[in-house]
Amino acid sequence: MALLTQKDLRSLNESLEERTPREILDWAVSMFGGRLAILSAMQQAGSVVCHMASVAGHKLPVLFVDTGVHFPETLQTRDRIASEYGLEVITLSPEQSMEDQTRELGILYLSVDGQLKCCELRKSQPLLNAAGRYDGLLSSLRRSDGERRSNVPILALDQKMNSVRINLLANFEDQQMNEYIAREKVIVNPLHHQGYSTIGCSRCTTPVMPDEPKRAGRWRHLGPWAMYCGINPTDVRRPESEAIELPGDLVDRLLGRTVDFSI
Ligand code: SF4
Repeated sequence: MALLTQKDLRSLNESLEERTPREILDWAVSMFGGRLAILSAMQQAGSVVCHMASVAGHKLPVLFVDTGVHFPETLQTRDRIASEYGLEVITLSPEQSMEDQTRELGILYLSVDGQLKCCELRKSQPLLNAAGRYDGLLSSLRRSDGERRSNVPILALDQKMNSVRINLLANFEDQQMNEYIAREKVIVNPLHHQGYSTIGCSRCTTPVMPDEPKRAGRWRHLGPWAMYCGINPTDVRRPESEAIELPGDLVDRLLGRTVDFSI
């Protein structure tokens, strides 16, 4: 095993900046092989990643965290992605139902601290059930989404999952994505056509007005203090000093440290 730090990824990240999402996808498959999965919340950017993988013939598993309080449209989108794109969708669930959690802890999502706890229990913890299975996770964060994502790196470390997050759409502008969705007839969560620019749990997501920021509909009832759930590490922190431990040959491949045994 070998350590990989965010600093180690700097020049690799620079070299990926000019590549298209499809090229980054193919690169990730060549690097991570069977230890690669897609992480999708069944929003439109995640559907684009699933579509790209499907048409490229990359039969990657798709991890979907079902908090138990998603909109029916989100679950329908998940089922369509599985059946129409031929991808295995792995649904990860919290330990408790929302009813049991509320009975034990109260309505957490009605306070800022409670929201962090609720998202930890219903989003971050279920994802951790897949920790150790994947060295690479294809995510769909985009710089065009603004706020804390405006500088998201293409490759970022996920220390809790001990994997590399690959944000292959980091440079995909809104117009490029909309054109891709229209041209390729990508399966899109119907709520995007009903004023929801981003989509999370039904308890904490509302549509947004045309002149509002994209994430204004997330935890609107809590004001500007709650904007992210924490399932994406780059939304909450990005210390250069963080490190993960991966197989040595994978780290060598990622960093271009090939050994010529013929010498
Ligand atoms: S988005 Fe709301 S309901 Fe969903 S896990 Fe977070 S706080 Fe709980």
